Amino acid sequence: MTVAKNRVVSIDYTLKDDKDQLLDTTSGSEPLEYLHGYGNIIPGLERALEGKSQGDKLSVKVPAADAYGLRDDKLVTTVPLDRFDGADAVEEGMQFEAQTPDGYRVVTVTRVDGTQVTIDGNHALAGLDLNFDVTVAAVREANAEELAHGHVHAHGHHHGHEHENCDGCGGCGGN
Ligand SMILES: [Zn+2]
Repeated sequence: MTVAKNRVVSIDYTLKDDKDQLLDTTSGSEPLEYLHGYGNIIPGLERALEGKSQGDKLSVKVPAADAYGLRDDKLVTTVPLDRFDGADAVEEGMQFEAQTPDGYRVVTVTRVDGTQVTIDGNHALAGLDLNFDVTVAAVREANAEELAHGHVHAHGHHHGHEHENCDGCGGCGGN
């Protein structure tokens, strides 16, 4: 069975940046399972997997624009420290969800300077070209519920969750 829309694909992968730095890997854990054709993984990787079969190995270089996007300087802003709940605890590297005109977005505190906090709403991998080594571990037809939800249900289990945000499902990797 080949990778195509409406099929559930399991992949083992290793992800490195252009400096050969390891960013992510499924090695030592379960393969990543996703529903193909629904934008559940980055577009460049989804395209490269189209038509592949179980056991196929591929190396894919995905330019930033086809991965997590280019960095957007407009997503970097400075806000007064006293606007934060628990301002005492705000430190560099903290991440939290902030409401933006585009909906909720994970932002990272990149600097705390006296009474000012710099936050960055770019994805941690924005602006990076990504190099994937991928092995297709399995391909199966999605079930009707998965198709209705637009994402995979781990091990085929039914689950209840709010459709608006899919909290707690995990099937879409939290997206
Ligand atoms: Zn679901």
